[in-house]
Amino acid sequence: MNTFEQIYFLIGILSLLVGVGVAFTFVLPVPSQRVKAQSPIYGRLFLVTLWFAFLGICLQPLGFPLASAATLNLCVLLAMYMLYLTVLKRYGQVLTHKQIAMIILHLAFCEALSLYFYLGNNQLLIREMLVSICVLIPLGLTLRLIYQNIPDNRGGDEMIFIVVSLTTIGVVFGVPFYRMWLEPGEPVGTEVAFVAIFMLCLLFMLGFPASLMQSLFVRLSTQAYIDALTGAKNRHYLYRESVRMLAHAQRHEQHFSVVVCDIDFFKKVNDQHGHPAGDEALKQFARIISDLLRSGDTLVRMGGEEFLIVLPNADIQQASTMAQRLCDEVREAEIKVENTTLKLTASFGVASLNADDTIFDGIRQADEALYRAKASGRDQVKRAQS
Ligand code: GH3
Ligand code: MG
Ligand code: MG
Repeated sequence: MNTFEQIYFLIGILSLLVGVGVAFTFVLPVPSQRVKAQSPIYGRLFLVTLWFAFLGICLQPLGFPLASAATLNLCVLLAMYMLYLTVLKRYGQVLTHKQIAMIILHLAFCEALSLYFYLGNNQLLIREMLVSICVLIPLGLTLRLIYQNIPDNRGGDEMIFIVVSLTTIGVVFGVPFYRMWLEPGEPVGTEVAFVAIFMLCLLFMLGFPASLMQSLFVRLSTQAYIDALTGAKNRHYLYRESVRMLAHAQRHEQHFSVVVCDIDFFKKVNDQHGHPAGDEALKQFARIISDLLRSGDTLVRMGGEEFLIVLPNADIQQASTMAQRLCDEVREAEIKVENTTLKLTASFGVASLNADDTIFDGIRQADEALYRAKASGRDQVKRAQS
């Protein structure tokens, strides 16, 4: 193969990789939020601009040095901003007009300097240093963005963080190290540039889908434990977590109490105001309760208008006090549904678990207390009889 054939071969290989990468972004699950859904678009643009960057490198040995100088630095920097935008959109964030203007200015500045140093004696080293320094800005912005968001978006982000970190390390250490092996004025070999760009594309193609799928998986598995109407936890959550919560309490010799509550005469709400109004009332009821809970407490919708409150680290007295507070708050609250204001009451049964009780023993005892609260006229709290 002569040099030209070799260059066309490398362009062909990269085209194939980028083509697969771009096609792949179309079959990835698209996030439902509008801004987040734009993330794969920028992912595609990142791959395409990287492809153009390689083309820019190849234009030099193909005999178009001016075209190479005019496109190379611009495409490399643009690709890094596309990477930044991919991550930014993935977090549902948008750029302000000022930030867009700054990016455009940065691109124009880099392009102008690059051309200036090309036309003035073709200062290759300066042009290379220039682009290396310029790309550190979008890379740094991207790293900062991921770093800030990792605590809220666990799952997958670490992967994209590694991709951007490797790229940054490559720019900071790899480029100067490689430069040292070259003669002054000798351009970067197309093979080396190819390997670097190929690896970056490949890492992105692994990292970006992994990051998307992982966060989708985390979201779905979280949603699987949440009641869609009220936002409270559901029974699946209780089955999964109760053993762990109880074991933790027993290990630390802490009290553990449960409160079962059921809205009084809820059937009437549906009968008088309709099912949608009943749904809205249920939602507001759950909000009133959860607003009063401590951070370690959990509200579970057991079904219909019946809820369970899990109170780790609360003895029977503390749990009863909490239940009485909830009972009072529910009675006082004004539930606004459609054009009317409803008043609700609820009945509560409280039980505290003994060392060898399961959570279901506790729920059964609390249920029995709830039954007595209902029988005694509703809108009140009863404790389990131990
Ligand atoms: P009690 O004081 O004895 O608990 O009376 P109640 O009417 O609340 O009890 P009952 O169990 O007879 O009725 C519960 C009602 O709750 C029946 C059902 O229509 C309603 N309900 C259960 N789940 C939902 C829901 O998701 N949405 C709406 N709108 N209503 C629900
Ligand atoms: Mg009821
Ligand atoms: Mg009921």
